[in-house]
Amino acid sequence: MNLLRREAADILAEIAALRAADAPTHGGRVLSYVYDSGVAELDELAAGAARLMQPVNGLDPTTFTSVAAMEAGVVGFARRILHGESDGSDGAEVVVGSVTSGGTESCMLAVKAARDVWRAANRAGGAGDTRAPRLVAPTTAHAAFHKAAEYFGLRLDLVPVDPAGGAPEAAAVVDRLDDDVALVVLSAPSYPFAALDPIEEIAANCAERGIALHVDACIGGFALPFWPQRLRTWDLRLPGVTSLSADLHKYGYAPKGVSVLLTRGRDRQRHQYFATTGWPGYPVVNPTMAGSKPAGPLAAAWAIIHALGDSGFTELTGRSARATSVLRRAIDGIDGLRIVGEPVGPLLAVAADEGVAQELRVDPHHWADALRTAGWQLQLQPGMVQADGTTLPPTTHLTVTPVTESVAGELSGALVAAADAVRGVPPVDGAVLVAELAAGLPGGPAALAAASADLDSDAAADLLAAFGLLGGHAGTVALPARLAPVLALVETLPAPLTERLLVELLARVVEPGGSQASRPSR
Ligand SMILES: *Cc1c(COP(=O)(O)O)cnc(C)c1O
Repeated sequence: MNLLRREAADILAEIAALRAADAPTHGGRVLSYVYDSGVAELDELAAGAARLMQPVNGLDPTTFTSVAAMEAGVVGFARRILHGESDGSDGAEVVVGSVTSGGTESCMLAVKAARDVWRAANRAGGAGDTRAPRLVAPTTAHAAFHKAAEYFGLRLDLVPVDPAGGAPEAAAVVDRLDDDVALVVLSAPSYPFAALDPIEEIAANCAERGIALHVDACIGGFALPFWPQRLRTWDLRLPGVTSLSADLHKYGYAPKGVSVLLTRGRDRQRHQYFATTGWPGYPVVNPTMAGSKPAGPLAAAWAIIHALGDSGFTELTGRSARATSVLRRAIDGIDGLRIVGEPVGPLLAVAADEGVAQELRVDPHHWADALRTAGWQLQLQPGMVQADGTTLPPTTHLTVTPVTESVAGELSGALVAAADAVRGVPPVDGAVLVAELAAGLPGGPAALAAASADLDSDAAADLLAAFGLLGGHAGTVALPARLAPVLALVETLPAPLTERLLVELLARVVEPGGSQASRPSR
C-alpha cells in the first residue's frame, strides 16, 4: 500500500508556492531578519548537514554522540574567536558553553543562571534575602531581557542611554549597582542603534564587586571578531564578563535555530542546567529550555564553521563592512536624515535630522515606506520616551549582510530617491491618527478610552478590524502597504493596549480558518 496519498513533489510545490509570497530571504532586498552570506554553496552545505542530522534527538548527546562532538566544536570555535581560551595558567576560570536554539534562548539562560547564582549566594548563603533580584541594562538591551525578567522573576532596571549616541554612560550603569543586582547586561552592539556599550569600564566595576555581567553579542558575536577596523575591547578578554551570547543564525550564516552561550566558570554555568530524577521516566538533564531538540541547526553551523574557517569569516565580514561604509556614505549625503550615534558593526539606524528645517527633514518611517514600494524592506523602529524623560527618536534600521555588497550601489540610489520622494512630509501625528480612529469606532472615543490591556480576544480583534489591520472575526490579517501609521499607533497608544493588540494580531494569523491558512484537505 502506498501510504502517501499525494505525490511528494506536489506537496513541495505547494510549499514553494506559499514561500513565493514571503519576503525574499536572499538577494539583499530585506535588511533585517535574514543574514545572507551570498554564497549558495554555503546554504547547500548547511542543508546537507541538517539533513544528515534530521532523525537525531539532540536531547541526549550520550546516545547521539555526534551531537556532543559538534557542540564541543562549535563552542570551541566561539570561545577562541571571542578570546575565552585560557590554559588556566593566568588563574582565569575556564570558559564553557552551550549551543541553544537562538539568541533569545541564550539570553534567557544567561539570566536564569545569573539569578540562580545570586539566589545561592544571597539565600542559601545565610543572608536569607527574599528580594526579587534586579537586572540592570540600558534601554537599548534586547527585548529578550524583558522576556527573561518576566519569565524568571527579576526586576528589570533600565538605564537611559544618551539619545544622541545610543549608549549609556558607564557611570550611570555603575550607579545602579548594589547587592540586589543579579546581572548587568550590555550589548556588543545593541540591535536598535548598533551602539557598542562601554563594556570595558563597567566590566572592571562588576568584577570588583562580584556582580555578573552578560555581554549580548547575539548580533555582533560572529562579525565583530573579524571586523576590519580596530574596536574597543568588549569580549571575554575582559575578566569581568561572566557570560556572552553570540548567534550562529545571524553572522554565522546558519539556518535559524542556533546560537551559543558562553559562560566563565564551570560552577556558574551549572546553574543554567535543569535536572531531575523525580519522576518515573528517564532522568532529565537539560542545559537549555527544550527537551527533545533538533540537531540540524547545530550541524549546519558546525559545517559552515569548518567550511569558512577564520579566513572565510574574515572575507564575508569584510563584504558586510564595505557595504556598511557604502550605505553610511550614501545616508550621510542625504539631506534631512542622520545616522544615530556611532554604529559599530554591520548595522545602523537612521533618524530624521532635527538640525534642519521641517520642510527639509526626511521622516525615517515615510522613507522606509517609500523604499518598501521600491522593493527594499528596511525595518521601522518606534520612538520612545526613556525613564528620565529623554526621547529616543523614531528610526529605520538596516542590518547589512555580505550579500548587501553586491547591491550596495543600487540600494544607495534607492535610499536617495526615497528620501527625495518624502522630504518635507511631516511624520504621522499619532495623536491625530488615534483621535480619528477613535471617532470612527462604533462606541466612539469612549470605547478606545475604555479599552485596556484586559480586552478579551473578540474585543481586541474588533479594535484591530476598526483600525484596518484585521479583516473581521475570521482573522485575515492585512498589513497595510504603509507602515508609518502603524508605528505611529505603537508610539501613541498605551503600551499595554498595543501589546495586547499585537498578541491578538499574531494569534489570529495562525488560527485555522483564516484565509491565509492553507488547510490540508481531509
Ligand atoms: C537577534 C538578537 C537577540 C535575540 O535573538 P533571536 O535569535 O532573535 O532570538 C538578542 N540580542 C541581540 C542584540 C540581537 O540582535
